[in-house]
Amino acid sequence: MTTSQPHSTAQSEALFARARAVTPGGVNSPVRAFRSVGGVPRFIASAQGAYLTDADGTRYLDYIGSWGPMILGHNHPAVREAVTQALAGGTSFGAPNEREVDLAELIVGLTGAERVRFVSSGTEATMSALRLARGYTGRKYIVKFRGNYHGHADGLLVEAGSGLMTNAEGELGAAAPSSAGVPEEYAGLTLVLDYNAPEALDALMAARGEEIAAVIFEPVVGNAGVLIPTPDFLAALHRVRDFGAVLIADEVMTGFRLSLSGATGLLSLDPDLRCWGKIVGGGLPVGAYGGRADIMDFVSPQGPVYQAGTLSGNPLAMAAGIATLRELKANPDLYRQLDDYATRLAAGLREAAARAGVPVSINHIGSMLTVFFQGAPDGSVRDYAAAARSDTAAFAAWFQGLLSRGIYWAPSQFESIFISAAHGEAELSATLEAAAQAFEGVES
Ligand code: PLP
Repeated sequence: MTTSQPHSTAQSEALFARARAVTPGGVNSPVRAFRSVGGVPRFIASAQGAYLTDADGTRYLDYIGSWGPMILGHNHPAVREAVTQALAGGTSFGAPNEREVDLAELIVGLTGAERVRFVSSGTEATMSALRLARGYTGRKYIVKFRGNYHGHADGLLVEAGSGLMTNAEGELGAAAPSSAGVPEEYAGLTLVLDYNAPEALDALMAARGEEIAAVIFEPVVGNAGVLIPTPDFLAALHRVRDFGAVLIADEVMTGFRLSLSGATGLLSLDPDLRCWGKIVGGGLPVGAYGGRADIMDFVSPQGPVYQAGTLSGNPLAMAAGIATLRELKANPDLYRQLDDYATRLAAGLREAAARAGVPVSINHIGSMLTVFFQGAPDGSVRDYAAAARSDTAAFAAWFQGLLSRGIYWAPSQFESIFISAAHGEAELSATLEAAAQAFEGVES
């Protein structure tokens, strides 16, 4: 499995050509186009456990897990069974259903949030949470952190992480706003600070705290590659509430991944609101936001902040989310297993890179991990500027070396990989063998 194979990509190439004729760039989400690593994006025909099979019949060991949701592995029997059962009862009602209550109760029980509202994506969750914070406080400005990605709502596409860091030319995204089509006036309501810079946050709050509706943050960053928050930064985040600002933890990536209660539980955080996506839908389109009842009760129809969705609380999506959270709840040891895998993966990768003379700095926490191609000491890549110093050409060479050996790593230097319950001993040793060979092919 780990020898470099000249896989045929004929079917993927043909599909990509068809796709480009009818879809911008041939993909429905930019990073899938492989622009920063080159080569043809693989069109996936099916997925099972830790593996993807592409349209040409090539099997890959998957480290993306659909960018986070598939913590149990692909096509998990409990999730499949739950969705199949729901399917038999009809696919959408546009009226309340019991599964929405079940999933909300599960989330409340696991996270301590007092109220939850379902939407259909992480983007909708953060966008809605920010509107709520503005409605609740009557203030206009929000604060976010450089390199944090919170979905593609206009006011959040400001210095916004991976997809924008690895743009078409593989260069770093521009300063605010980081997408065409976002009016400067709108982006101007988003104030951007460096991650892990508590003094800057304290200073901004001291100067303008009374204008700020919300501070939104990734409690562990995945979208500039993995960045771990320092205790001082986390403490400064909690101080923003002294100024009446709403603290919003974006747990779309970390929720139910870093622990049953997310990064919030793992790092003992106490945000006012949280946003979820990915795992909460078990691979179907679900997002959610929730938190303090006095804030959440501002949401329509209880309160004056409007937010709605035709497919919100969709019964199939709820069924997948319920089955996934129930599995996680029944197997709390899984988090130790995932962390153990990632710890051994990180150690093996460090060793292999050193043997090949390739400088790397690895950040990892739980089942999230990024190999930064740069010589900084492990753990010292702590903000966007540090992540951006990575050698993206070396990363691309390593990525291709892995892919040709059947390992599907995240196709961007500025992403986390996601390990699942289906990754075991065989997968770990196959990865380390392929990675060692791929490092040998990187010019340093
Ligand atoms: N917030 C974070 C932290 C994310 O990682 C993402 C997506 O990767 C989003 C929000 C947006 O979620 P979605 O892609 O479901 O809209």
